[in-house]
Amino acid sequence: MGLIVQKFGGTSVGSPEKIISAAKRAAEEKQKGNQVVVVVSAMGKSTDELVSLASSISSKPSRREMDMLLTTGEQVTISLFSMALHELGHDAVSFTGWQAGIQTESVHGNARITNIDAEQIQAQLENDHIVIVAGFQGADERGSITTLGRGGSDTTAVALAAALKADKCDIYTDVTGVYTTDPRFVKDARKLEAISYDEMLELANLGAGVLHPRAVEFAKNYQVPLEVRSSTARENGTLIEEEARMEENLIVRGIAFEDQVTRVTLRGLPNKLSNLSNVFTELAKNGVNVDIIIQSLTEGYTSSLSFTVNTSYLEDAMDVLNSQKKKLGFEKIESEKKLAKVSIVGSGMVSNPGVAAEMFEVLAEEGILIKMVSTSEIKVSAVVSQEHMVKAVEALHEAFELSKKGAAVS
Ligand code: ASP
Ligand code: MG
Repeated sequence: MGLIVQKFGGTSVGSPEKIISAAKRAAEEKQKGNQVVVVVSAMGKSTDELVSLASSISSKPSRREMDMLLTTGEQVTISLFSMALHELGHDAVSFTGWQAGIQTESVHGNARITNIDAEQIQAQLENDHIVIVAGFQGADERGSITTLGRGGSDTTAVALAAALKADKCDIYTDVTGVYTTDPRFVKDARKLEAISYDEMLELANLGAGVLHPRAVEFAKNYQVPLEVRSSTARENGTLIEEEARMEENLIVRGIAFEDQVTRVTLRGLPNKLSNLSNVFTELAKNGVNVDIIIQSLTEGYTSSLSFTVNTSYLEDAMDVLNSQKKKLGFEKIESEKKLAKVSIVGSGMVSNPGVAAEMFEVLAEEGILIKMVSTSEIKVSAVVSQEHMVKAVEALHEAFELSKKGAAVS
C-alpha cells in the first residue's frame, strides 16, 4: 500500500462532469489499495472571474480581502469533489488549506508555506477516507487566510506530498506532460519522458507555465517523485526526478520564452563603488523584481547600467529611479519595451562547451539581434525583440534537434 497525492488543475475540474471523471481517477487509486490525498484548483477560470469581480468594486482591493475572496474558488471544488466520491461509494472528506494544517508566512497574495501540520489528514487517511484539500491557500500564524500565488495549487500538492512522505505526486492537467517547448507555438514540440528537477526549475522560472516554480523547488528539496500527466488521455506523462533515469542525454532539453520584457538603461552613472548596490537596493525596497543586469564600465569615464524587468514593473521602476536621481547621480534613463527572453535549458551544458556559441550562431543566421545575454550552469537566455521571439524558439528547437528523441547526443 502506498500514499498518492493527486492534483487536478482548473480545466480538469472545470465542470461537474469533469469533477466526476477526476473523482473516478482518485477512486481508482484508492481501489488499488493506496491512501489518496487529492488537491484541487478552482473550477475552470473561476479565479480570474473572482479577480474581475473584485476589480468592479475596487481598483486597488486590499490584499487580505483578495485572499479571502480568491480562496472561495477552491472551496467550491473540494466540496463538490468530495460529493462526487460519495456518489461513487467512497468515504471522502474535504478540507480548506488551513483545516489541512497548511501554515504560511504572513504575506497576502504570494505567501510561502512555512509548516504543515498533517495530523487531521493523517487521521482521516487512517480512517480509510480519501482526503480532498483546497489548493493555493493556507493561513498565517494569526489565522488570516493567505494564498500562495497564482498557480499555487501545484505547490500545495507537492508540499503535502513531502509532509506526508507520499510515494508519488501526480499533477493532472490539460496537457499530456512537459514539452520541449510550448506546443501552442511550435508544432514540432515533443513530450519529454523525463526531466530533472533542476531543468524543470529553470524552465518554470523562465516562463514555462506547466508547473509553479515553488512546487518544483519543494519536489527537489524533499525528493518528491512528480509526474505531470493528462487528466483525460490514458498515457504516461513526464517524470520529474533527480538525474538517474533520464531518458536521453540531450544537451538542451527544453526552450522557455516569455514576452513582456523591458530593458531599462541608466546612462552617465558616476563610477562609484556603491553604485550597483544603491540602484538595486532602491528597486528591491520598492518591490521591483529585476532580471538580467549588465554594467559597462570604462575606467575614468561614467558607466552605464542596463537591466530588464517585466513590463508590468516598468512604471514602478521609473518612478523609483527618477525619485532618486540626485542621490544615484545618473544623467538619464532610457527604456525599451516589446522585448522577449528566449532561454535554452539542459543539464548537459555543464560539461559541453560551445552551447551558447551555437545558440548565438543560430540566431545570427536568422537575422535576429541579441540585445542581452545571461547564463547559468544549465541555461542560456537571450533577450530579443518580441517580434522575433517565436522565430527564435523555432530555429533553436530545430537546431538543437529537440523534436527527435535523443538526437542531440554528442
Ligand atoms: N486557482 C488558482 C489560480 O488560478 C490556483 C491554481 O489554480 O493553482 O491561480
Ligand atoms: Mg497551473
